[in-house]
Amino acid sequence: MSPLGITVLLLAAFAAFAWLSMRKLAIVAALQPEVRWDHPWARMRTVLSNGLFQQRMIRREWKPGVMHTVIFLGFVSLLVRKLQLVVIGFDAEFALIGPLGDAFTLWKDLVEVGVLLAVGYAFYRRLLLKPARLEPNREGLLVLGLITIIMITDFAFDAFRFAQLSDSVPAIAHERVHAPIGSWLASLVADWTPAVLATAAAIAYWAQMITVCAFLVLLPLGEHFHIVTALPTLFFRRGKPANAVPTVDLSPLLDDSSDASELKVGARSAADLAWKDALDAFTCTECGRCKDACPAFLTGKPLSMKGVNDSLKHHLLAQRAAILAGGAAQANLPALVGDVIGEDTLWACTTCGYCEAACPIELELLPKFYKLRQHRVMMDGEFPAELKNVFDAYEVQSNPWGLPADTRGDWARGLGVPLIRSAADMAGVEWLYYVGSAESFDQNGQKIARAFVEILREAGLSFGILGAEEPTTGECVRRAGNEMLFQQLATTLVESFNGLGVKRIVTCDPHAFNSLRNEYPAFGGHWEVVHHTQLIDRLLVEKRIEVRPTHERVLLHDPCYLGRHNGEFEAPRAVLGRVARGALLEFPLHREKSMCCGAGGARMWMEEHIGTRINVTRIEQGLPQRPDVIATACPYCSLMLGDGLKTKNLNETIRTRDVAELVASAMVRNRASG
Ligand code: SF4
Ligand code: SF4
Repeated sequence: MSPLGITVLLLAAFAAFAWLSMRKLAIVAALQPEVRWDHPWARMRTVLSNGLFQQRMIRREWKPGVMHTVIFLGFVSLLVRKLQLVVIGFDAEFALIGPLGDAFTLWKDLVEVGVLLAVGYAFYRRLLLKPARLEPNREGLLVLGLITIIMITDFAFDAFRFAQLSDSVPAIAHERVHAPIGSWLASLVADWTPAVLATAAAIAYWAQMITVCAFLVLLPLGEHFHIVTALPTLFFRRGKPANAVPTVDLSPLLDDSSDASELKVGARSAADLAWKDALDAFTCTECGRCKDACPAFLTGKPLSMKGVNDSLKHHLLAQRAAILAGGAAQANLPALVGDVIGEDTLWACTTCGYCEAACPIELELLPKFYKLRQHRVMMDGEFPAELKNVFDAYEVQSNPWGLPADTRGDWARGLGVPLIRSAADMAGVEWLYYVGSAESFDQNGQKIARAFVEILREAGLSFGILGAEEPTTGECVRRAGNEMLFQQLATTLVESFNGLGVKRIVTCDPHAFNSLRNEYPAFGGHWEVVHHTQLIDRLLVEKRIEVRPTHERVLLHDPCYLGRHNGEFEAPRAVLGRVARGALLEFPLHREKSMCCGAGGARMWMEEHIGTRINVTRIEQGLPQRPDVIATACPYCSLMLGDGLKTKNLNETIRTRDVAELVASAMVRNRASG
């Protein structure tokens, strides 16, 4: 080989790689700081499980997952082989010997066969199976082609080198013994002349090294940059709780000594994004998994996390000079909402979290969208017209319906539910039942509340409600970007609950559950919060209530804010398993892959002007199961799906019912007295 040739080739390739990589990484480094390195061991565990061993991908789709894992692990372990080839560039007779060298030589042959099989499957998938989410992609095919060339030329190099040198160089003869494929191939060309073998080995060597270097230079140019950045991106992931809304520091508004112009709300331009937002955009593999059950994408809205990352990536590169210049140049960057991320894209998101849960490298969309919504609402005053009424309604009446706040407890009239009015009242009961707006004001929701009260009574639990004094969590306005209003509502709620000495809360509303459990600790609210399905499950297990199965076929819809955002998939299933006729039915998209009903992210209050309706699509997904009842564990899902059934004129044959309603109607009453 040629020491000079290999030196020049490697220097040129690494210089190009470093220069091209720095074009992107410098942008990442120039954006807003954010601490993403707390709990380093937990982060490392994710890097191992979802990075090196790609468990998240295998769990969701095992065939492509295994294929990708084989290629990735092969890629990593073959880096050692490339080092060996570099040394051979300086010393043609260099060979790996010793126990470690022998083991690696065997491993390398096996890995290369595995990678070739995996690449074959990848070609088959892209060219023949053509899964809907994989758009035609020349870069993907080019990379598969380059990997194939690298594997084949490596076997060819071994074959020609072994045939040429194993008789005369003992170390190479030793290596040949441990390389079954290379050795077998060498036996096929054993009768070639030494000169021809030397030329063939040189061609295979340079073909491989040039392909490896071309691959290296290609990496930072396109989506395959993720080979470099995926592991760091996994390390710097957000972690729990999922769906956290970036907090806005409103103190400049409240503190007379501060300058209100210092108030920084959300994100207007790329300069306001955090460095991790840019790293995510540059790391997106364009695999399209985030679209599979995105309710917006599936119903024709102009939104997918892949699309957002793609637009953002191109924008960051186009605005690179201004981002790196900082100061006035950054201040003059164009707004993101508009040309980069359309207004319809921003407001189409139901914040269901499917995309983030599906993304194999845990990229994040929601923090970006929350920051953009915050800026649009609080700084620009621009947002969908329907939200104006919602914000006003919350401000005046503390509920999105805008119904009089003093009627909040009317649903419980005549039920004799204890009203909590003081810390002494609170100390006298075990649970605060946080009812929430939907169950207080919507007729359908009120039925859920009454059914739950029946269950609590039957179980003999002591509980109370706040009635007209119940503050709202403001979860919906927070997701809509009105952080100012949310923080006012949160302050009221925390003062009220802490003043009463609240310790344990049960709620039927997964949005309130998520907010009280995951968001209120940041505002001073530290309570035990459980969802009603969890409490009912406990009551059934402890035999404090008993149910008899109904005669209805029950299909369960997973609420996103209970399941995906809080990991609770089992409780509703355990409860309904005792109530449904036969086995509980499942949507094709269920548990982690469940599709949203369309209500989250304040979408409940916005019209759907584009595409088809999400709630109708969700109903259509469940019809092949021929349910009598679609069970939900969220009053908003119940409303949305009920509306979907009406749209399809199916409300006479299929009903939506909350888990609490189904349990209450299946409950064996007054067991003690009976
Ligand atoms: S959070 Fe849900 S609606 Fe929003 S982009 Fe992701 S999958 Fe789509
Ligand atoms: S955001 Fe994640 S799931 Fe979506 S295309 Fe990019 S890498 Fe794939």
